[in-house]
Amino acid sequence: MEYQAPERDAYFLLFDLFRAGEIWSAIPAFADFSEDLIRAVLAEGGRLASEVITPTNQLGDQQGCVWQDGLVTTPPEFKPAFNELTAGGWLGLAGNPDFGGQGMPKMLACLVEEMLWAANTSLYLYGTLTVGASLCIDAHGTQAQKSTYLPRLYSGQWTGAMALTEAHAGTDLGIMRTKAEPQADDSYRITGTKIFITGGEHDLTENIVHLVLAKLPDAPAGTKGISLFIVPKYLVREDGSLGERNGFASGSIEHKMGIRGSATSVINYDGATGYLLGEPNQGLAAMFTMMNYERLSVGIQGLGAGELAYQQAAAYARDRLQGRSPTGPQNAAGVADSLLVHPDVRRMLMTQRAFAEGGRAFALYVGLQLDVAKYSPDDGERRKAQALSELLTPVAKAFLSDRGFEGAVMAQQVFGGHGYIQEWGAEQIVRDTRIAQIYEGTNGVQALDLIGRKVLSNGGSTLRQFVDDMAQSEVLEEFQADLNEAYDRLVRTTASVTERARQDPNLPGAVSTDYLDLLGLTVYAWLWARMAACAPNDDFGQSKKLTARFFFARLLPRTLALEKSIAADTSALMDFVGDQF
Ligand SMILES: Cc1cc2nc3c(=O)[nH]c(=O)nc-3n(C[C@H](O)[C@H](O)[C@H](O)COP(=O)(O)OP(=O)(O)OC[C@H]3O[C@@H](n4cnc5c(N)ncnc54)[C@H](O)[C@@H]3O)c2cc1C
Repeated sequence: MEYQAPERDAYFLLFDLFRAGEIWSAIPAFADFSEDLIRAVLAEGGRLASEVITPTNQLGDQQGCVWQDGLVTTPPEFKPAFNELTAGGWLGLAGNPDFGGQGMPKMLACLVEEMLWAANTSLYLYGTLTVGASLCIDAHGTQAQKSTYLPRLYSGQWTGAMALTEAHAGTDLGIMRTKAEPQADDSYRITGTKIFITGGEHDLTENIVHLVLAKLPDAPAGTKGISLFIVPKYLVREDGSLGERNGFASGSIEHKMGIRGSATSVINYDGATGYLLGEPNQGLAAMFTMMNYERLSVGIQGLGAGELAYQQAAAYARDRLQGRSPTGPQNAAGVADSLLVHPDVRRMLMTQRAFAEGGRAFALYVGLQLDVAKYSPDDGERRKAQALSELLTPVAKAFLSDRGFEGAVMAQQVFGGHGYIQEWGAEQIVRDTRIAQIYEGTNGVQALDLIGRKVLSNGGSTLRQFVDDMAQSEVLEEFQADLNEAYDRLVRTTASVTERARQDPNLPGAVSTDYLDLLGLTVYAWLWARMAACAPNDDFGQSKKLTARFFFARLLPRTLALEKSIAADTSALMDFVGDQF
């Protein structure tokens, strides 16, 4: 499989669409980052992704990870590639400069992450968990915890892992059983079994820092009684050197549909030493710092996969000769025309492309909100960006990963039977991308979060404010009327859901996934209309405008059906009684 990092599109989005240079110059923390520097970072990230990491992708899938006596060996190609990734400081790209991070904008990190996900999903999982763990320690750790862990996580000397899930407690973390008993020296003894822990054990680094959710002896029941602990594989001495092995081990690894180079472990904590991170019983809120990062990142996993799949499918369709164009032969000298002449193949390719490029713009927009929320000198702007990033994080996680998977399956379809066999890699992309819809909170749970906590909880006011802001943008005139209709549909549907939910407790869950898709499509339409308005007058800009036209003509109409299905009564779902299933 080959992969070309989408650098041209990245520059367009950063500098033409979002005018990042102007935004950054108003943020003191970013004032020193010149456009040249940003271009150099993206070019180097693209080279690393395409030339160093992509060649490990199929090999890693074929070899998988091996578990023996509690130790996990990753595919042989992974270690050198991971070393090159970490040597370049990529895991500390947006990290805190006080502890060795590079303090670069999240927008830039989103673009680099997409490249790394596309290049090798399994390999980058070890990276994304490390970045997420460092964010969490930076936000909630003591000074000593930050100076011990952050520099080593940013440099990739150690990696991170997040340990939430237990066999009986997945979505419902409140019923978890892992316990933490306070010790005389202020540490805690952690006992329990976690399952599905990505990167919980592996051979890529000398230490692995687990962030573990557990309950204190006097903890209140449910999610209010969960605390968060740092539990390193090797205990760390005061000078930062490694001490004795901590009391936990991998009990086994899972045999999975995809991401086979990523080790997913059962972890048995057997009186392991842990250190409280943040406040007692506030662990879930603290863990959300990591989870919100991972949610956007997992959305970007879907985006990277969609782009990779599109590149494979477009290249294949250009070369593969089958059938003739409905308008007569286009390749009269050949035995047949290329797949590109067939309107149905074009439908698949254009859908993939429109979702990949629209998704990239969306991910960057969420990254921009996170940058403003964290770094803007203006209080009001920070608060507004924070509310917007909270509204859009579940959409980014679910809509990007759903569209990534949709794109991967369409790419597989473009390959015909060759998409179903191993050789071309299309089936691997499908397998590797499917998980993005499931972990980090299933996409169903993201949709509930959106509708319940982000929309209904404030009577839809954040959403309305966002729509008002979208309506101020400069867009290509050609799309203005359709766009206005899409805004109206979203606002109308939000008002109707808010009203009906007061009478019917099943309503939010019944319409949540459709509502998330309605919002996602509307936001993509807004971004496509903006991209079309600032597209340059060259081949690249021409392709942008044509793809925007495709989006409006063929994908935005999905919102009509969504509005109708959201309007349906919940009895269509709820009247079916338990034993009819
Ligand atoms: C490969 C892999 C890697 C993973 N990595 C990690 C990791 O590193 N760390 C970690 O802690 N966990 C990890 N997980 C666990 C993952 O996050 C969970 O599997 C996921 O959150 C869902 O939990 P569950 O499997 O128990 O499903 P369940 O919670 O049993 O859900 C089953 C179905 O019911 C739905 N559902 C459940 N509750 C509700 C509700 N209240 N309302 C509506 N619908 C609901 C869900 O959407 C889902 O469709 C990983 C899982 C896999 C497979």
